[in-house]
Formats: sequence, structure tokens, C-alpha cells
Amino acid sequence: MEIEDMVANSALIKAREGSNGRSWKWREMLRFPHISQCNDLATTIERDYYSLCVRQPIGKKLFQLFCRSQPELQNHMSLQDALVRQSSACFQGTNLTLSFIRDLHKYLSGEPFIQYQKSMFFDRFLQWKQLERKPITKQTFRKYRLLGKGGFGEVWAYQVRATGMMYACKKLEKTHVKTRKGESMALNEKQILESLDSRFVVNLAYAYETKQALCMVLTMMSGGDLRFHIYNIGKPGLDTERVCFYAAEVCCGLIHLHQKSILYRDLKPENILLDDKGHIRISDLGLAVRLSEGKLVRGRVGTLGYMAPEVIGHERYGMSADWWGLGCLVYEMTAGQPPFRARGEHPKTSEMERRIQMGQEEYSDKFSMVAKDLCSLLLTKDPKRRLGCQDSKGREVQAHPFFQKINFRMLELGLVKPPFKPDPRQVYCSDVHDIDEFSTLKGVTLNQSDNEFYSKFNTGSVPITWQNEIIETGCFKELNLFGPEGSRSPLKRS
Ligand code: ADP
Ligand code: MG
Ligand code: MG
Repeated sequence: MEIEDMVANSALIKAREGSNGRSWKWREMLRFPHISQCNDLATTIERDYYSLCVRQPIGKKLFQLFCRSQPELQNHMSLQDALVRQSSACFQGTNLTLSFIRDLHKYLSGEPFIQYQKSMFFDRFLQWKQLERKPITKQTFRKYRLLGKGGFGEVWAYQVRATGMMYACKKLEKTHVKTRKGESMALNEKQILESLDSRFVVNLAYAYETKQALCMVLTMMSGGDLRFHIYNIGKPGLDTERVCFYAAEVCCGLIHLHQKSILYRDLKPENILLDDKGHIRISDLGLAVRLSEGKLVRGRVGTLGYMAPEVIGHERYGMSADWWGLGCLVYEMTAGQPPFRARGEHPKTSEMERRIQMGQEEYSDKFSMVAKDLCSLLLTKDPKRRLGCQDSKGREVQAHPFFQKINFRMLELGLVKPPFKPDPRQVYCSDVHDIDEFSTLKGVTLNQSDNEFYSKFNTGSVPITWQNEIIETGCFKELNLFGPEGSRSPLKRS
């Protein structure tokens, strides 16, 4: 490792440990606008109870603060606390609890919601929303080392100056996007990511543009991608416990996407990332498509080695392609090599296609009986007979004996401890030197119609992720003070 790499790594490790990531000017960066500057917002914001008081994290906090300030709502709030505790602590009687919670929301969305909108708590919410809408530029972030490279650009470790939050920034070079007609792909990835909210899929926090690039700022996954874990740490492959845990979490992620009618189409080790605790998230949704009700798609997309036979064969296909992908992933994690190609072997395209459509994959003694059974069911050539493709929407995969030890309900709540925790002092990616540089293409001119597309992409902060950032980094707690006697301005700071 060269000295430059060591310096880049230690800067990143220090930032991640971060107690001191905020800029000294952070309070100024997050200074509330005067309430009169929120008038536009007040008239245009959609007055939807569920969005304003349940889904948006800061909105939810302020609505709760309002309710607690109203003597006649005290009982309702205690009831709500008890119900929330109940529903997360115990799985029995969940339906009853859920119906109580529904009734409670029905009540709160009436008169209390109307009163809330007249209160200083709602004014404060508008002030936060106004901050949320601040334009995003290069200057919003501090930049650390290069983490990886993709088809259109590089991925870098970033930190928000105002809050200290770490993210990964996926850059798409405008010249490359234009030359390779990647506009709809870029916009597609951005729009699908912002519509999702799952612990098994990376979150989008910001989308913005610079002169050269379109940038997506995503959940930082400091454990690196599964490709790195399979091949770059000791003997190729992972132990059974890890294979089972990662496969189970990927399975939950796929089910979540499929429930939203999204077909992922790019399942492979380098697109499955590990966070600092050892949980996985699916990333890289560039090839994902939203299928309309019961419809299928056609299109040979993905990475050849992981494409399902029906994708290669130009047939119409649906979610079946992802269950094939899961089969390839479980196979590769177990064997330390993908199912249809030996390590270091580079068969011609036609040969790869033949193997995938007709060849029989081989199972070494690294595969237990159940692992082999799961893989061969997922790698069934005929999509109609493949595991996962029956009517249960993926639940039959979770029911396979391979996952016997997994409690999927706990897993979906994030309550299962991962079998492997990444070392916080290690950087799980190739040395900066070994990642090829990405250059701007010369001689490509960007014009007005390009700008129209860029402005569709450049939407700034994604509300739920941004609000979570403000809360998680403690900024909400430190800044959300109210002046004496409930005045609407924040306390003057010394
Ligand atoms: P592409 O669509 O071009 O394949 P990816 O989104 O897969 O680009 O990113 C390329 C690589 O960058 C990944 O394989 C991974 O190693 C790294 N990477 C991507 N997103 C993150 C993230 N959120 N955190 C950490 N590393 C990431
Ligand atoms: Mg990728
Ligand atoms: Mg991609």
C-alpha cells in the first residue's frame, strides 16, 4: 500500500468515528429562516396528515410535541406510547394493536391536526422544511477517499459539513451519460431510489448536479461490497452462517421491491453492500424497472454471468429474473466462484449463454444438502417452475429449510445480530491506486435539452432521509428550541 492510500484511509476512518464532523459554522448553516420567509411553503405544502405527521420524521416529532403540549391530548399520547411499545415488543395480538393505532390516527387527523397547523409547532416544521429545500452544491459536502467505480463515474466518501453525517456520493459524468445515452437510466435510478424506504435498500439523501456530474448521495455502506468480502479476504467464499444471513436479508429486500412492482435485474455481489454493523443493503438500481400491474418486460439487461435464461432468450419476464439472481448470489458466496464460469476463465458470450440456458451447474462439497437444494431450485431454467415464482410473492423462498434458523419477522425489524461485524478501523475496498481513474470525455458538448434533463434530476434533499439525518446527528435536539413563552422565533444564541 502506498503512503497516499494510507493517508486517504486514515482520514476516512477518523471521519467515520466522527464526534467532530460538523463544521464550526454548522449553526449558521442550519439557521432557521424567519417565519415570514415560509409563506410560499405554507400555501403550497400538501396538508396531508399521514405525510406531515406520520411519515416525515421531523414532522412526526413536532406533531408529538404539539400533542404533549395540549392537556386534553395527554391521554391519547400515553395510549400511543403504550401501543407502539406493545407492537414492537410482542408479535401476538399485533392485529388488535394495529387496529387501535389506526383508530388513534383517525382521531388525531381530525381536530388535533387542524389545531396543530395553527400552532407554533407547525411554524417550526415549516422552518425546517425551508432549510430542507436549500440548494445543494459541492460546498454542502467534504470529500474523502474514492470508494469504487461504476459504469458512469466514481463513488466517493462524503460528509455533510453542517451535520457531520457520512454518505457515499455516486457521480455520473455528464459526458459519459450523454455519449452512452444513459439519461433515462440515471433518472430512473434516482426516481426509484427516492420512492423507496427500506432497511434493505440504500437510501437516497440528495440528488444534485455540478458542472461535470450528476450526483446521488446515498447511505454510506462502510463494510464495502460482497464481492470484496468473497474474494479479497482470505480464501474465496463465505462461511455458511454469513451466506444464510446475507441471502435472507437480500430476500427481504427483493420482496420489498417486488411488492412495489419493482424488478431489480442487477443482483450480483458488487451491488450488495455491507453497513458498519454488518447488515446488507441492495444498491445500484440503474437497471430496475417498475412493472405495471401483472405486466412483463423484455430486454436483455444485467450482467451476462448473472442473467436468467429467459432474459438471455429475449422472452418476456417478470420477477423471476431476480430469484435466479439470488440463486447465483447464494452459489457464488458459497463456492467462491459464480455458477457458470470458473475463476479466471473468460468464456465467449455465446458459450456463457449456452451454459446458462442449457448447462448444469456443479456443486462441490462446500454445499450442504439444503444449500444445494436452495440453489438448484432458484437456478431452475424454467421460470414457471423456479422457486420464488409461484403466487406467494417470494414467501416460499423464506420458507425453504436453508433459512430454518432465520426469524424473518425479527430480521425485517432489524433485530437480528449480524454474524460478522466489519472492523471500524478497516477500509473495505481496493486501494485508491488500484481503482482506475474516470475522466471527462473531450469533445462532447452539452446543450439546452441536456439542461432540461439535468433539472429533472437536480431535486436536492430527499425529505425523509434528510430529516433522519438531522435527527440522528443530534442537530434537531440542539436546534429545535422555542423562545421564552412560546415565541415563534428560536432562542437567540450567544
Ligand atoms: P454502477 O451502477 O456503475 O455499477 P454502483 O452503484 O454499483 O455503480 O457503484 C460502484 C461501486 O461503488 C460498488 O460496487 C461499491 O463498491 C461502491 N459503492 C457504491 N455505492 C456505495 C455506498 N453507498 N457505500 C459504499 N460503497 C459504495
Ligand atoms: Mg454496480
Ligand atoms: Mg448500475
